Amino acid sequence: MKICVIGAGPSGLAQLRAFQSAKEKGEAIPEIVCYEKQPDWGGLWRYDWRTGVDEYGNPVHGSMYRYLWSNGPKEGLEFADYSFDEHFGKPIASYPPRAVLFDYIEGRVKKAGVRDWIQFSTVVRDVSYDEGTGKFTVTARNGETDTESCEEFDHVIVASGHFSFPNVPYYPGFESFNGRILHAHDFRDAREFEGKDILILGTSYSAEDIGSQCWKYGCASVTVAHRTAPMGYDWPDNWKEVPALERVEGKTAYFKDGTEKTVDAIILCTGYKHHFPFLPDDLRLKTANRLAASDLYKGVVYVPNPKMFYLGMQDQWFTFNMFDAQAWWVRDAILGKIALPDGVAMEADWQKRQADEDAYDSDHDAIVYQGDYVKELIAETDYPSFDVEGANQAFFEWKKHKKKAIMSFRDNGYVSPITGTIAPPHHTPWRHALDDSLEAYLQAPKAAE
Ligand SMILES: Cc1cc2nc3c(=O)[nH]c(=O)nc-3n(C[C@H](O)[C@H](O)[C@H](O)COP(=O)(O)OP(=O)(O)OC[C@H]3O[C@@H](n4cnc5c(N)ncnc54)[C@H](O)[C@@H]3O)c2cc1C
Repeated sequence: MKICVIGAGPSGLAQLRAFQSAKEKGEAIPEIVCYEKQPDWGGLWRYDWRTGVDEYGNPVHGSMYRYLWSNGPKEGLEFADYSFDEHFGKPIASYPPRAVLFDYIEGRVKKAGVRDWIQFSTVVRDVSYDEGTGKFTVTARNGETDTESCEEFDHVIVASGHFSFPNVPYYPGFESFNGRILHAHDFRDAREFEGKDILILGTSYSAEDIGSQCWKYGCASVTVAHRTAPMGYDWPDNWKEVPALERVEGKTAYFKDGTEKTVDAIILCTGYKHHFPFLPDDLRLKTANRLAASDLYKGVVYVPNPKMFYLGMQDQWFTFNMFDAQAWWVRDAILGKIALPDGVAMEADWQKRQADEDAYDSDHDAIVYQGDYVKELIAETDYPSFDVEGANQAFFEWKKHKKKAIMSFRDNGYVSPITGTIAPPHHTPWRHALDDSLEAYLQAPKAAE
């Protein structure tokens, strides 16, 4: 049996680690080929300073930026088989910068020794399924060697992420705006906006965090336009929330309530689309960004063709450990340890999940809902069970801390659901910590004067 994994971000790496952990226990595992279009692993957590296309003409995957610190507590994403304490050898604070999380992700897969399973700088161009042979053909192009390969697989696992292809709205006047318009996908460095007045469209995590970054690194003002409701945090004085944008003229933005603001840049924090340019219609997941994705039994099996799996396609409170729960489950489905029901039952499964999701109306309920999903999957495999309620608790506290003080919520610490360790405060409050490097973050706290 031969398995194809598309993408070596946290989801794809979870899949490699899941198979490797079975191998470690003496089980026979199939041949695994993972294609990764970037020259290194880590997915979004591998910082790419570029925007536009990469050196091989492929769209740049990265949507992360310099100075990005985890936007949720690390206790909510901790791997159950590889704790932060194990990786760093000491307790660390709860909201690590991107480089620190990349190091953590990398530490586990280096230890597992799965790098050889990955073909880097290799973009999957096409996948097709043959009803006759029951096999998939995957066509991939290696940018370094400029060669194309075509291989057959028994299963395909899509782990290509869904926060990379921007959803770009249009507003009248955009074409003649006398400043810069960019999508969050292309935002790289808040220092570019020092002294500038910026307008942000949207109320997503990107809106909140990109605005906060720009504020932290000295922009003149932040205006955030919302279509439905404001984010409603206690923002700094030079930050304003306004109703939806109607149009722009020159450098002036006009809003639905009749107010206006002259701005230097417009940052579209308007979300991402699930986009799989390498998949034909019959294999392509079509779903909104929600906790229970359409067409996925147990959130992972593609119901129209159950030999195909998708990882990490849900909207996410839980991330790394949820991808693990999914990867372990998919591994066991492929190894025949978990039996799939018939198509009717699989269809009913995702529809019920969506109905349950629709019945909830608070973030609190949504966190519990996704925590329960993680619990459900790990109960069916040998993924180390962990204190999911504890992780929920970290999320609840995080929400409270944000409400209390949006520009200092990252100065709080939580209890690890894996080791029980209480995260120490970081040596420098977030708003004053301007260097996001691993070295700066891990340096010892300065001795008290
Ligand atoms: C700006 C931003 C900030 C975020 N901050 C946080 C945070 O603080 N905490 C948190 O837990 N989560 C955060 N996330 C969520 C993030 O989605 C997950 O943490 C995680 O990166 C998802 O992992 P993934 O492997 O599913 O997808 P990705 O990380 O997107 O990885 C997908 C991989 O697939 C590869 N790929 C794509 N197409 C192809 C192809 N055709 N052929 C071969 N390879 C391909 C890509 O190169 C990439 O390496 C953030 C997301 C964004 C966009």
